[in-house]
This record gives sequence, C-alpha cells and structure tokens, in this order.
Amino acid sequence: MPVPKYRTSASKRDMRRSHHALKAPGLSVCPNCHEVKLSHVVCPSCGFYKGKQVLETKSSSTSWDGSDLSSSKVQAKDESLKDSSKKDS
Ligand SMILES: [Zn+2]
Repeated sequence: MPVPKYRTSASKRDMRRSHHALKAPGLSVCPNCHEVKLSHVVCPSCGFYKGKQVLETKSSSTSWDGSDLSSSKVQAKDESLKDSSKKDS
C-alpha cells in the first residue's frame, strides 16, 4: 500500500480545506402557497412552477416528508420482524 513520503504541511492542508465550506441553499418563497422552497425547483408543497400546476400533490397543506413514507417504513419493519420470527421457529 502506497504511503505518502512527506507529512502534509499545515499550509497545504489548509489550502485543501479552503474548498470545504458549505454553501447555504438558494431559498425563495412560493408565489402560490407562500411556502419556502428551493429556487428554480417545482414547489414540493403545492406542485406549482412558473404559475402552472406541474406536479400532482395529494394535499396542498402537507409537505413531502408526510406520513406515507414513514408508514411504509413501519410496514417494512413489521415484515422483517415477522420474517425473523419465522426463522426462529
Ligand atoms: Zn407552492
């Protein structure tokens, strides 16, 4: 396994880390439902972009991290539990 010949100097290390800062996402307010969303992206809460409905949303009030995903995860967990119990018996 190749090993570096020389220890990286503090200057080189810090020059490398000069690009590691995180940038805040470009946020804007939806003109339709006035919810904060990413700019140049379809509004996840109402499905509008440029004043048109481009995405079907189940309900305009709930957000994408709704109950559907969590309920499916719970079901998957229940199935895995059943499988493990079958293996045990
Ligand atoms: Zn919206």
